Amino acid sequence: MTVKWFEEKIEKDRPKQVFWVFFGGEPLLDIPAVDFMTSSLKKYCDEKRVIFQFSIITNGTNLSEERVKFWNEQGLVSIQVTLDGYEEIHNQRRPFIGGGKSFSKIFNNILGIVDKTDVILRLNIDAHNLKETPKFLDFLKEHKLEDKLTIFYGLLLEADKPLPHQKKYRIVGEEGAQGILSLRQSAIERGFKVSEILEGGPCIAKSECSVMIDPRGKIYKCTGHVGLEEFALGGLGDWQSLSRCRTDLGEEEFAVGEVGSSSKEYEQKYAQYVGMQLDEECLNCVFAPICLGGCPYKSYTKFGDPKKKVCEKSYYQTLAKDVLKQMFTEEEIKEKMRK
Ligand code: SF4
Ligand code: SF4
Repeated sequence: MTVKWFEEKIEKDRPKQVFWVFFGGEPLLDIPAVDFMTSSLKKYCDEKRVIFQFSIITNGTNLSEERVKFWNEQGLVSIQVTLDGYEEIHNQRRPFIGGGKSFSKIFNNILGIVDKTDVILRLNIDAHNLKETPKFLDFLKEHKLEDKLTIFYGLLLEADKPLPHQKKYRIVGEEGAQGILSLRQSAIERGFKVSEILEGGPCIAKSECSVMIDPRGKIYKCTGHVGLEEFALGGLGDWQSLSRCRTDLGEEEFAVGEVGSSSKEYEQKYAQYVGMQLDEECLNCVFAPICLGGCPYKSYTKFGDPKKKVCEKSYYQTLAKDVLKQMFTEEEIKEKMRK
């Protein structure tokens, strides 16, 4: 059903490129579905001369060299695996469902695929593993992974039902930014590539051309809201005809084909996300291009209202200048500013 939905959407919107991200829960619990969906859409896109690419965000337990070779032929560009740090901490926090230790299996799987695709290692950072992480980077270096992995540091979002360690150790704002900065530096000094994507933006929910689809075929705009049906825009089965671009949303004369009542509701909900208005403070804020007025999911978990703003300017202020310094020399920054 998802493949068909995309085929119809490609037919109507005529994009140059389609990019999928499989994420969870755990997307590799159903590898045959991933194989079927990617090979089917790849075939369709090849016929239509549309570029099809995808990446996978996984806990790493079901990865294999053989699958990666197959996915490479279908358009795989990268695999992101999440670890919570050193073996001991990771095993405490992310055991198998029956209680077994998962670190070794995941780490061996990473070693098995690291030469076959780009592997991004997401390290979830909090007050508990912050100090230990440089030692973990040394461990990765001992396995000669510094040229093969990209490190991506992540802070945990405030969850509806946080696990005990999330409640106790979560770091946010300036503290979170300082933690990421110092660990970015540790990784760079050890020769690792570090992801240039900053946690916090830009937001998929507010982007014009992105949707999330859950295993039951419900469509969402925000990753944090997936599974909360009250935030679903509609279902794949509801989708009959949608406007092609944001400026057309809600304008029936610009709708593509016939607008059914359920697809109209979809449009309205879609427009609420991508058309969120920035207030005066945000309009005058230098961080607006990456922050876009804050994360509605954080607003929802904090205030129960996705429209009530949570401003994290101190996070961006702390990160922005120093991350630029880590990425570019002072001469390069001056050169860019002159242009
Ligand atoms: S609203 Fe927040 S959680 Fe949702 S996609 Fe945007 S940044 Fe992510
Ligand atoms: S940092 Fe605060 S003021 Fe700036 S765009 Fe984001 S929410 Fe608005």
